[in-house]
Amino acid sequence: MDTALADRLAAVDERIRDAAVAANRDPGEITRIVVTKFHPASLVAELHALGVRHVGENRQQELTAKRAELDGIPDLVWHFIGQAQTNKARAVRAGADAVHSVDRSRIADALHAAGAGGEMLDVLVQVNLTDDPGRGGVGPGAVEELAAHVAGLSTLRLRGVMAVAPLDEEPARAFERLRRCADAVRSVVPDARWISAGMTGDFPEAIAMGATHLRIGSAITGPRPPRD
Ligand SMILES: *Cc1c(COP(=O)(O)O)cnc(C)c1O
Repeated sequence: MDTALADRLAAVDERIRDAAVAANRDPGEITRIVVTKFHPASLVAELHALGVRHVGENRQQELTAKRAELDGIPDLVWHFIGQAQTNKARAVRAGADAVHSVDRSRIADALHAAGAGGEMLDVLVQVNLTDDPGRGGVGPGAVEELAAHVAGLSTLRLRGVMAVAPLDEEPARAFERLRRCADAVRSVVPDARWISAGMTGDFPEAIAMGATHLRIGSAITGPRPPRD
């Protein structure tokens, strides 16, 4: 067992608890997703042995491969947090328990069409908090319309919003905009309460803003191996 991994996980969890208490929030209402992208499946297995149940991946092929490799671990919850392509919707749907990155109606439609089996898929609307339209996510002004579209698809369960804070802005300010987007989504689907925000560099700010799902990678896993 990797004691450094256990130590980093415990240290992050302590910071999560501290930030929650400082914000008058119950730490138990916050889900810590460990982002395991680029790391081998064996790391996911180690994390599971340490009690981790929620993991995040940003590439479909990696998600599919790791989930297959770890098939014997039944209680892992896989979150897909990367850009989803419509022609990979079936594989994303098969591999993910929740998709955080629905940023256009076409990907919502494709995920819906891939869901013939009757099971519901949890999805979040990804919001682009930057000024760069090339980044993933729908602009804040279009969130409500996309939420209404997703809400009309019977195999998708709209859970809330997701975003990455811009690099060139105070995360707290950007998360304020995300919180307004979360309110807009709840005006469409009142129980869509998830706010997926907060990474290694900004999760305390995300907790202060009301994040319910943190996506934390390198603070727990250590540095990522290079992309292939
Ligand atoms: C990689 C990634 C994370 C985790 O990033 P860290 O800075 O390593 O915590 C979170 N969210 C998304 C969408 C990512 O791609």
